[in-house]
Amino acid sequence: MSEMSEMSEIGEIGEIGEVSEVSEANAMNTVNTVNAVNNKNDLRLAERSRVVIPGGIYGHMAVPGFSGTLPQYMAYGDGCRVTDTDGNTFIDFLCGWGPVVLGHRHPAVQRAVDEQLARGDCLNGAPPVMVELAELLVDTVAHADWALLAKNGTDATTASVTIARAATGRRKVLMARGSYHGAAPWCTPVTEGVTPEDRAHLDYFEFNDLESVRAAAARAGDDLAAVVVCPHRQDVHRDQELTDQGFARGLRELCDRTGAALILDDVRCGFRLDLAGSWEPLGVRPDLSAWSKAIANGYALAAVTGTDALRDAAKRIYTTGSFWFSAASMAAAVATLTELRETDALERIARAGRRLREGLAAQASAHGFEVIQSGPVQMPLLRFAGDDDFSLTRRWTDEAGARGVYVHPYHNWFLGASHTDADIDEALERTDGAFAALTRR
Ligand SMILES: *Cc1c(COP(=O)(O)O)cnc(C)c1O
Repeated sequence: MSEMSEMSEIGEIGEIGEVSEVSEANAMNTVNTVNAVNNKNDLRLAERSRVVIPGGIYGHMAVPGFSGTLPQYMAYGDGCRVTDTDGNTFIDFLCGWGPVVLGHRHPAVQRAVDEQLARGDCLNGAPPVMVELAELLVDTVAHADWALLAKNGTDATTASVTIARAATGRRKVLMARGSYHGAAPWCTPVTEGVTPEDRAHLDYFEFNDLESVRAAAARAGDDLAAVVVCPHRQDVHRDQELTDQGFARGLRELCDRTGAALILDDVRCGFRLDLAGSWEPLGVRPDLSAWSKAIANGYALAAVTGTDALRDAAKRIYTTGSFWFSAASMAAAVATLTELRETDALERIARAGRRLREGLAAQASAHGFEVIQSGPVQMPLLRFAGDDDFSLTRRWTDEAGARGVYVHPYHNWFLGASHTDADIDEALERTDGAFAALTRR
């Protein structure tokens, strides 16, 4: 599995002690001609981290090839800009890897958090804002009759699967091969430390291939508890793929026919594409949805929403956490969802995404490159045609990073409501330089 080989690469980097060798290791995936950015503090933090944190950093941040020119540590963010510990500022197209939907430190969200923190965060009993948030979710999400709150997307996908199993008394869960649903043993993409028993009741289908779902459902027989699926194919290391309406409808019919729960993993897309749910435009409603990332504009919160048919099962399962009743992130979510509902934020995100996509397409062809831009414009990804090992794409993202544009070679980017036309145009001026730099080489 590609993620695994990359993990071992970072492990090797972790053995290196000297700062100069670290730079060399960081440059492994980049090119020497990229404008040198000031990264002394970043390298020093990485150095200290390797002593006290296994591998120096974990999870998606541990995957190198992100870029030799992008910092691993960040000092602050403001609107659509982030600044690293060396003072380099970037126009941000990762948005905290999804959570930041309104912009870093959005005033309405900050105010709500500050007001809640002034009263306390973890207060023995649940905060009143929890009820307000659940009401808001039920009112916003089309299929939702109830909501459960948690902290991370993995909590929400895992609880959804548990609810489906509790409701059906069955064990088998189907997911698309290569889809990411979180970092718990049942679904993590890296199987180090995971037992076959952890996956014993998981089976796979191919995204957008209804026949493969039917075959997997047949293998599960009368033990099928749930089908879990992302709103579109958003796996790393490949172009994104939109969902065929027939596929979504077919999943709905299959779940209705078998009595299995249809779980939409809206953790990454949720509240960025369509507030009512990312499959609303397809006219398909899930039984359960898992939400996190954008729900609270960067504060730690997740939710499961479900239909009345699953309410009793959701009541019977046991799921909780030390911080699941903390109030500040719930206040942040209420402020975020209110802002998304009452302003044209989603339109602005789509507009910024379209402007970026059109600009990049024009630039690429002006410089004689063929690029593939995939996924919804709000969550774009760019790859050079034929660049199967991402080497040219990575050189371009390195060149963009060196010019203060924060993009990723093989994980989808994110637009936010704080990206104005002027920000996009400024980013495009810089990416034009990145394309030009590739032509020169
Ligand atoms: C990020 C993500 C998750 C896991 O969420 P965490 O908050 O990282 O636990 C699950 N599903 C999808 C589609 C995601 O993008």
